[in-house]
Amino acid sequence: MAGVSLSWETHELHTAQPFGIARWTHSVYPRTFVTFTQGGVTGQGEAAPNAFYGETRDTVEATLPLLAEALTDPWDWDGLHIRLKALMPQGHPSARCALEMAAVDWCARSVGLPAWQLLGLSPSPLPESSYTVSIAALDDMRRQAREAAARGHGVLKVKLGTDHDEAIVEALREEAPAVALRVDANAAWTRAQARRMLDVLAAARAELVEQPLAAGDLDGHAALRAVSGVPIVADESLHHVGDVLALARAFDGVNLKLAKLGGPLQALRALRLAREGGLSVMMGCMIESSLGIAAAAALAGACDWADLDGALLLADDPFVGLDWQAGQLARPQGQGWGVERR
Ligand SMILES: [Mg+2]
Repeated sequence: MAGVSLSWETHELHTAQPFGIARWTHSVYPRTFVTFTQGGVTGQGEAAPNAFYGETRDTVEATLPLLAEALTDPWDWDGLHIRLKALMPQGHPSARCALEMAAVDWCARSVGLPAWQLLGLSPSPLPESSYTVSIAALDDMRRQAREAAARGHGVLKVKLGTDHDEAIVEALREEAPAVALRVDANAAWTRAQARRMLDVLAAARAELVEQPLAAGDLDGHAALRAVSGVPIVADESLHHVGDVLALARAFDGVNLKLAKLGGPLQALRALRLAREGGLSVMMGCMIESSLGIAAAAALAGACDWADLDGALLLADDPFVGLDWQAGQLARPQGQGWGVERR
């Protein structure tokens, strides 16, 4: 069609501080930005690949040329999903996400609406986002928590999976006694460790614990949940929309991320399935720009918890337009996802 173009380019984004979880510490994050233009309207999407889900910058750059032909009509969302599946039956969720995000952004902008409104999503205020305390030396984690609380963050999420997790939880509770404290073990604990940590988390009044055990250990999570006073939330155990209902027997909630589920429309399907299954829902993110965060924010008003600090951790966010007051993100009001290139 005349006047139609689809292109992408990769930028290396940098976190202001090295960002550490149980599996790794990085400060450089290559992100690939997709731009779709038709009829003078442009929609944008972001691929935030994560090695845990089998993606890298190279796989995204190799996959986008193969998947691009699926985006024929930006209004045909089911068709886009079906064509993506036909071209590549599985994998590459962040590359799919970038195309889906760009299609929805284009549609919303072409009718002059915020994307959340086009999607028929709740206009209610977003839940306050957690701010992440990443794995570092204990004094540094104390400093991260102290400074975040002083800036007004009311919800902290601490990354665990070290040999001194109990000390970290106690230290953070001491540094920030008033915050809601969430913990994320990123699948690093054994069943015995997790069982021991439940008591530590209960004593620290932890609000929830994310992915205590290995991704495939649903029986272990179900057993843990049976004795836990703290809600247990799946993150690494949830790769595909179709996994959601099976997780309801082992978890209290699920963490939805656009980049692992294949985009905002797939995350919305997962959100609705989670509600059918009686699961609580967290809207999460990768380290990604304000574009990816804005797309996640569109869904976050329909969720119980938000974890959308990915762009707050960046030193060089290429998008602007989000309005943060500490951890409280205002619902984007601009057209499309509501952010623009800096
Ligand atoms: Mg997590």
